[in-house]
Amino acid sequence: MTIRTRIAPSPTGDPHVGTAYIALFNMVFAQQQGGQFLLRIEDTDQERSTPESEQAILDSLKWLGLNWDEGPDVGGPYGPYRQSERMDIYKKYAQQLLDDGHAFYCFATPEELDAMREQQVANGESPKYDGRGLLLSDEEIQAKLDAGEPYVVRMKIPSEGSCKFNDMLRGEIEIDYAQVDMQVLLKADGMPTYHLANVVDDHLMEITHVMRGEEWINSAPKHILLYEYFGWQAPVLCHLPLLRNPDKSKLSKRKNPTSINFYQRMGYLPEAVLNYLARMGWSMPNEEEKFSLDEMRANFNIEKVSLGGPVFDVEKLDWLNGRWIREDLSEDQLAERIGSWALNENYLKAILPLVSTRLEKLSDIGPLTQMFFMGLPNISAEDLAMKKLDEDTVKKILQFVAWRLDSISDWRKETLYSELNTLAEGMDLKLRDLMQPLFIAMSGSTTTPPLFDAMVVLGPDLTRARVRHAVNVLGAPGKKVLKKLEKAYRALA
Ligand code: GLU
Repeated sequence: MTIRTRIAPSPTGDPHVGTAYIALFNMVFAQQQGGQFLLRIEDTDQERSTPESEQAILDSLKWLGLNWDEGPDVGGPYGPYRQSERMDIYKKYAQQLLDDGHAFYCFATPEELDAMREQQVANGESPKYDGRGLLLSDEEIQAKLDAGEPYVVRMKIPSEGSCKFNDMLRGEIEIDYAQVDMQVLLKADGMPTYHLANVVDDHLMEITHVMRGEEWINSAPKHILLYEYFGWQAPVLCHLPLLRNPDKSKLSKRKNPTSINFYQRMGYLPEAVLNYLARMGWSMPNEEEKFSLDEMRANFNIEKVSLGGPVFDVEKLDWLNGRWIREDLSEDQLAERIGSWALNENYLKAILPLVSTRLEKLSDIGPLTQMFFMGLPNISAEDLAMKKLDEDTVKKILQFVAWRLDSISDWRKETLYSELNTLAEGMDLKLRDLMQPLFIAMSGSTTTPPLFDAMVVLGPDLTRARVRHAVNVLGAPGKKVLKKLEKAYRALA
């Protein structure tokens, strides 16, 4: 049997370090055994998926040195590798489940389902689809179909018993069917959900091992049932531990930058990031912390992955990155790396229009452009103290700006300006006042090049990270305060 693994990202946002981590383990596992690793784009959520996000994911995984044998960019014998191009396939299989009595039509409207859940909650039950679609007779179903009523297709779930399955790392797992929802497989717009598309594709693409994040464990019974319904052999399942913040909560961008682009823009070496991700839950037999991809391939043993939540700690990554720089790069190579990172003509040309009118001597370029060549500015709460704004307002501004910047996908000066301007208006502030703490957050100084232009040159990842850093410098809000802020923020939008 040829081992075949896959990474199946949904292109709905920035390329996440968690995706790279799962991809790395899948790739190494397959390569080590002479197998194949493929990349499939799971873009069935058409509202949230974008081609830009897909491209960014492919680019950043490649930057890290990951590569796949088959995928939407390189093709392969099991294509297409983008789910939006496989719609007819899913429809056919949903029909097959309907014909075989493993799935059923549900015509309930969203309002009806809301009322059902409210009633369940009022009765002290946990909300769950109650199987009302199963009560319809064949004639009733046909009449509704003939009348063109919108419907979804749901899968049947046994009313009693449990699903037992084996996880490569966790051994036997048992989940009661009572906890499993009659999952929608085909949505009212005819699009498949993740569960249907994922199972159909893993089967058709002959995936032998599904290695994914532990957040999918509860979906496993649905998937296993689908394999049974289709009469297919299910792949081996392996749920890898989720990456965590240093406080052990699930890795989140509020506490740790999660976009791979951030690490690239900060000037981490791809080898070091990959090495660091490899150490998440796994270590070399000799416990050496620094190792290459080749060394990992030679020594990797999936069974040795430990389940304790691996902590993604940027300070640890700094240390490792420093070692890679010192131990593996000659001065020539280092010069080349720094050149391709930021000390190059293209980058300089993007910056010059923002500072050239202020140059009196060429040597002014250093101090004037400092903000473009650093990571997070070294700032303290005192630096963020504003004459005209009290501390709570500054905190609020920074937090709101951080959220607003997160929602901007069209990273242009005009958009940044109009979004922050609207935000200032909503907060009853002058744009100028709202910008004051941002100057410090972005550059550590009150005199910076024009800030909106600078944000464009720095790009979304460094910009967002600097604003979040400033939020943290003032003391990240606790849960309660955060909730209040969120409410106030939503009221603006
Ligand atoms: N598209 C899913 C995700 O974004 C894939 C999960 C899986 O590997 O099955 O995580």
